[in-house]
Amino acid sequence: MTDEQKKALTELLGAENVRFDEPMNRHTTFRIGGNAESFVCVQSTKEMDALTDFCREEDIPFFLLGKGSNILVGDKGIPGVVAYFGEEMSSITVKENMIIAEAGATLAAVANTALQKGLTGFEFAAGIPGSVGGALRMNAGAYGGEMSQVVEWVRVLAPDGEIKTLTKEEMRFAYRYSILKDMDYIALAAGIALEPGDEKAIRMTMLELANRRKEKQPLEFPSAGSTFKRPEGFFAGKLISEAGLSGARIHDAVVSEKHNGFIVNEGFATAEDVKRLIDIVRRKVYEQSGVLLEPEVIMVGE
Ligand SMILES: Cc1cc2nc3c(=O)[nH]c(=O)nc-3n(C[C@H](O)[C@H](O)[C@H](O)COP(=O)(O)OP(=O)(O)OC[C@H]3O[C@@H](n4cnc5c(N)ncnc54)[C@H](O)[C@@H]3O)c2cc1C
Repeated sequence: MTDEQKKALTELLGAENVRFDEPMNRHTTFRIGGNAESFVCVQSTKEMDALTDFCREEDIPFFLLGKGSNILVGDKGIPGVVAYFGEEMSSITVKENMIIAEAGATLAAVANTALQKGLTGFEFAAGIPGSVGGALRMNAGAYGGEMSQVVEWVRVLAPDGEIKTLTKEEMRFAYRYSILKDMDYIALAAGIALEPGDEKAIRMTMLELANRRKEKQPLEFPSAGSTFKRPEGFFAGKLISEAGLSGARIHDAVVSEKHNGFIVNEGFATAEDVKRLIDIVRRKVYEQSGVLLEPEVIMVGE
């Protein structure tokens, strides 16, 4: 970005909402990544619209960050603008059995609201460390639950500036997929339809799932969760184990022995280390089983 563009960006969002050369390892659960050329907080739909317009007009690359729990940021960082939703775009309100959550809210906060209101159906998401926006984009799911099962509608900002409300059918949810990916829609908020339940039972389910996570997943190390998508008819972790790759490492990037489907950062892993390890895992698993693993983790930047 030129100095002029940096100045215009600062004027657009206010100096308190704009940082330059921000290390992305502070904003990703992998604790990996070079600097974002600019890192900006967006507090309203209007600001997001103005920002995306500005980036398009000035030909500046734009990336929307959720909680950084499913991305691998390159060691050379991300050129242009990395934007995230601030507090003003993270509200959670409840209307009868529906929770209306803005994109910046965390899934944990939504799950906690559901618990407090005695609403059941969102327990599956309590331990997924992402935002509502990221979860809508990924159709995040766990333990038999998935965003597609509870989302009633999603308000989005389209690239032409139009605000639309998509039904769950229009979201075209599939395994780790929604229409947000292909249409470049920015999720603003979602209506999450739940059912009245017993607070004690909801709490028990959340605790039980949290314990299962702790037992099975290497939560003691930074990661981006499951590195690979689940190939149809198989489990990625099992294929990786059968290819003899449990504990395989490139420097500090390691195939977790606790859960072979996770690549973890045991200290100072770089994106390059993780990328090389991903490539080795894909090649060896393919040689061993004929299954080509697809990364679930999204690679961003250079
Ligand atoms: C320990 C651990 C456990 C995990 N367990 C699970 C699990 O059980 N199930 C599961 O599904 N995932 C799991 N994940 C992965 C991750 O938490 C999910 O994919 C989550 O939905 C990502 O949300 P995020 O806000 O962090 O998105 P980010 O990682 O920041 O971004 C992911 C993608 O979403 C896009 N995005 C972000 N916000 C918006 C928005 N408002 N509108 C449109 N696009 C947007 C980004 O541009 C990017 O393409 C786990 C990760 C970790 C680290």
